[in-house]
Amino acid sequence: MTSQPGQPIAVQGADCAPLMFVTDTGPIAVAHAGWRGLEAGVVQTVLGALGEQGATVSRIVVGPVINQECYEFGADDLDLVAKTLGDEVRGTTAEGTAALDMRGAIAAACASAGVDDVVFARPCTGCGDGGFSHRARQEPERHALVARIRPAKVVA
Ligand SMILES: [Zn+2]
Repeated sequence: MTSQPGQPIAVQGADCAPLMFVTDTGPIAVAHAGWRGLEAGVVQTVLGALGEQGATVSRIVVGPVINQECYEFGADDLDLVAKTLGDEVRGTTAEGTAALDMRGAIAAACASAGVDDVVFARPCTGCGDGGFSHRARQEPERHALVARIRPAKVVA
């Protein structure tokens, strides 16, 4: 989180979601959201921290994330996430097996926290050119979502 104009903040990911919390006034924040974090309430936690600083989140931007077609998921863990975030987290892989729909999980977590304006990066990290993938290709690299408050223009 930062309230300093021009100061970049960043979060890394490789299948898990980098989240950027856009505010109209006050600080901004970024956060890493994997399924465990979503299930544990990371979105609500960040919104609460921003709220304590007087910021109201108007939009959440989601960086590259793995899509359901590439994200096979165990039934027990899927039930756990669905219990918290709802059945829209249940997806299907390209092979037809059970999957976690991270986009659905993120949208549900944001909606339950009161933010409906959620923008997603398009490509899948697993099969698209959406960035690095830990699950699909065991890549050790991570991509970064970088955010900053635009400095006020200096008028001469
Ligand atoms: Zn994919």
